Amino acid sequence: MVFSEILGQLTAVQTLRRALAAGRLHHALRFEGPDGVGKERCAFALAQALVCTERPLEGCGVCSACTRVVTLSAEPPHVPAHPDVVLVERGLYPAGVLGRSSPETTGIGVEQIRRIVLTRATFPPHEAAHLLFIFRAAHELTVSAANALLKTLEEPRSNVHFVLLTDQPRRLLDTVRSRSLPIRFGPLADDDVRTIARGEGHELTADTLALAAGSASQALSLCDPERVERRRHFVSSVLQALAAPDLGAAVELAASESGERATLQEDLRGLAQHFAFEARARVNEGGAGAARNARRYGEVLAARQALERNGPPALTLEALIARLRRS
Ligand SMILES: [Zn+2]
Repeated sequence: MVFSEILGQLTAVQTLRRALAAGRLHHALRFEGPDGVGKERCAFALAQALVCTERPLEGCGVCSACTRVVTLSAEPPHVPAHPDVVLVERGLYPAGVLGRSSPETTGIGVEQIRRIVLTRATFPPHEAAHLLFIFRAAHELTVSAANALLKTLEEPRSNVHFVLLTDQPRRLLDTVRSRSLPIRFGPLADDDVRTIARGEGHELTADTLALAAGSASQALSLCDPERVERRRHFVSSVLQALAAPDLGAAVELAASESGERATLQEDLRGLAQHFAFEARARVNEGGAGAARNARRYGEVLAARQALERNGPPALTLEALIARLRRS
């Protein structure tokens, strides 16, 4: 996963390589951009560049240090085997390790910052010249966690680096944003998405490419048979609830939701795609079909945003179906 293997993010990669070569890598970087475009791969490539023993500041991808960066332990917590690359993520570490009484469900808690980040950041790297913390979904830092991190994020000891990964940078506290340097990652070109999917054994159709909208993870999820079946089932349940004489089916469907925000987000993405497809397919038919599907598409996007702003999953779904029935 060295820099040369990162597809389609030339500007970001060049920025990092130049900073490394000049010895001017900012200690707190924020990788911003949509899901599935290579932010995390690039963070791991940066980690390899920082710890590589064969090609320091570039990464060889094959030495013991580089290999251990991308080898995650099979047992939880699934963290890199290299001791100088530390992953931070909501729910990654068992509650007991963090000294919590319950798992982290709503965000990265202050305990994870204290026990995993601050304690570690006080000591020099174990074996490499640098120590790197990679924050997955950094916008999930709770306010108290972000506040606990601020001082270290602003002035870490030398050779300590932070990469904050986020597809929702506006959800980060201003104080965190102002202390980190943004590196932007745009959607991938279709050719790059196609190449990545091919590497995983999938040939993408033009429609799948269009729906993936430049996200490799989205394209792969569109190909995964189990998830395809889940989304198909969800879409048909929603359509049934829309055609039902009253809200009974909608209430039932909402109640059957697991309450997992991420699952409903994916289901809603599938529903949005359904309406987008229908709107496109009906443009040439004339009539109101295209416009109605476009309106419904907009309603689903609004529900996804409500969910992002911490709307409760079951209620968000129920309210969405009620609105779709009126549209
Ligand atoms: Zn190496």
